[in-house]
Amino acid sequence: MDGGSSGGGITRRQLLRMIGMTAGSAVMYQAMTSLGLAAESGYSGPPKVGKAPPGASVLILGAGIAGMVAAMELRDAGYKVQILEFNDRPGGRNWSIRGGDRYTELGGETQVCEFDEGHYINPGPWRLPYHHHGILHYCKRLGVTLENFVQVNYNAYLHGQNAFDGKPQRHRPIQADYHGHVAELLAKAAQGGGLDQLVSEQDKQILLASLQWWGALDQDYRYTGNHGSSDRRGFNKDPGGGLGAAPEISQPMKLDDLLRSGLWSNLPIGALYDMQTTLMQPVGGMGRIGEAFGRELGSLIRYQCKVTRIEQNDAGVTAHFSDLANGGAEHSASADWCVCTIPLSILGQIPMNVGAPMQAAIRALPYASSVKLGLQFKRRFWEEDDHIYGGITFTDLPITTIGYPSHGYHSEKGVLLGGYLWGTEAMRFTSMTPAQRIQEGLKQGAKIHPQYLDEFENGVAMAWHRSPFTLGCFGQWTDALREEHYDNLCAFDGRIVLAGEHASYIPAWQEGAVTSAMNAIERLHQRATAQGGAA
Ligand SMILES: Cc1cc2nc3c(=O)[nH]c(=O)nc-3n(C[C@H](O)[C@H](O)[C@H](O)COP(=O)(O)OP(=O)(O)OC[C@H]3O[C@@H](n4cnc5c(N)ncnc54)[C@H](O)[C@@H]3O)c2cc1C
Repeated sequence: MDGGSSGGGITRRQLLRMIGMTAGSAVMYQAMTSLGLAAESGYSGPPKVGKAPPGASVLILGAGIAGMVAAMELRDAGYKVQILEFNDRPGGRNWSIRGGDRYTELGGETQVCEFDEGHYINPGPWRLPYHHHGILHYCKRLGVTLENFVQVNYNAYLHGQNAFDGKPQRHRPIQADYHGHVAELLAKAAQGGGLDQLVSEQDKQILLASLQWWGALDQDYRYTGNHGSSDRRGFNKDPGGGLGAAPEISQPMKLDDLLRSGLWSNLPIGALYDMQTTLMQPVGGMGRIGEAFGRELGSLIRYQCKVTRIEQNDAGVTAHFSDLANGGAEHSASADWCVCTIPLSILGQIPMNVGAPMQAAIRALPYASSVKLGLQFKRRFWEEDDHIYGGITFTDLPITTIGYPSHGYHSEKGVLLGGYLWGTEAMRFTSMTPAQRIQEGLKQGAKIHPQYLDEFENGVAMAWHRSPFTLGCFGQWTDALREEHYDNLCAFDGRIVLAGEHASYIPAWQEGAVTSAMNAIERLHQRATAQGGAA
């Protein structure tokens, strides 16, 4: 088998590139969002907002998760609340696209989704880690039913264009063989005395026993083709019933083929803190959360109101907006306080009289680029032919990801996440028309699933930099940017406070939006009560 290296030596640069290319979207996501810090949500119960001072009012800009958490809690505390929202629906980036939905991106391209009834794609958020206690709290409170989201599927594929002649490999044997070979090497080192300075004789015996179990080694601490290793990597023929039903043992791939394939770089993805089991999704699509908030808040949200200017003085805050449902008529709304959750990529273009530190912070934060493709197929060939039920295939092709639905198994049709692109490849796709993005996604995906070509029905392509309501995917903090701007971004400026995923240490997750909104309104309440109510 061709492991894909040009043979000979491999430079450190090539190695890092290999990791970056093959590890695909999840590692990019992790690298860009947490900078290696696994941040536990700071959520510790509902926000501590007491009774509102009499007559106190709050204007909230944006009905995404942050804006709607703020609105619900402030309403419950007795504040007079009003939300102005650009879109004609609640949720912001929390959104599911379903059959019949229309979406017009910047540049004027309109897509009308043709998915069959019951199918959807989540163009933005699609998974909820079990430790995102804040967003899970609101799912429970609002009656949003959750189901499992499959992240790791041992039967999904790992694919590298130069690995194993471009033939997709199942996750299972790659993981089993990687563990097995590493265990054998370590066992050899331990037995040869190579670890004597590091582990005691007694611990060495325990280590050997653990390596034997972890790596499925034989009694001589070798990783070979036998029942034990096949039980991890899969049999050539699975066991069955009756005559001729004995399983056929499979043979491990060679270590150098495995190493040079680079496919091992995908293995730890499911061990990243944000990707660990249990992950969840709302039944019917992630957008069910935003929709439930929208129902709860009812007429407190004014839709199709595009905020164009924000002014504050000692007495309160006024937001000027275009009423998009009525020919863009100019109106304004005022309140004592303002929680602004408009993404910074847009807010930076809206005149607002706040001080230089907050202005500088708003303008400093760049937004990541991302593209997601939703593809409907006539039949679930990934289940019928490939036996893949939920989970993710990773590839070093620009599409990076094929996500299989974690629900509706054995239904007639299905919608795949046919691509999840980042960085320059996302910008390249963004510059195409939606139809071109889908064609390119199909061409690439067919290298893994040749069935694409016969089974495709229709699709949608979401390029976040062309989204009129976000102009990007999420705020991309660096340590240096945080040090200079984060506190200035989050601190009150007069009567205005900002909230949203960008004002959190959990950017790119709904949990960041929830926790930032809770923190903002707790501080708002302290100020409002200190000032004795309405201005
Ligand atoms: C591709 C992608 C994948 C993601 N994956 C996940 C995931 O798996 N899990 C997860 O938890 N999170 C994920 N996220 C992150 C999550 O979507 C966000 O962190 C969260 O939804 C942000 O909420 P928010 O309220 O801060 O902002 P938004 O949802 O952006 O809300 C801001 C609101 O302001 C409105 N607005 C904008 N301009 C104006 C204006 N001029 N006037 C009035 N209103 C305006 C917008 O329409 C919007 O409703 C993902 C995001 C993307 C894009």
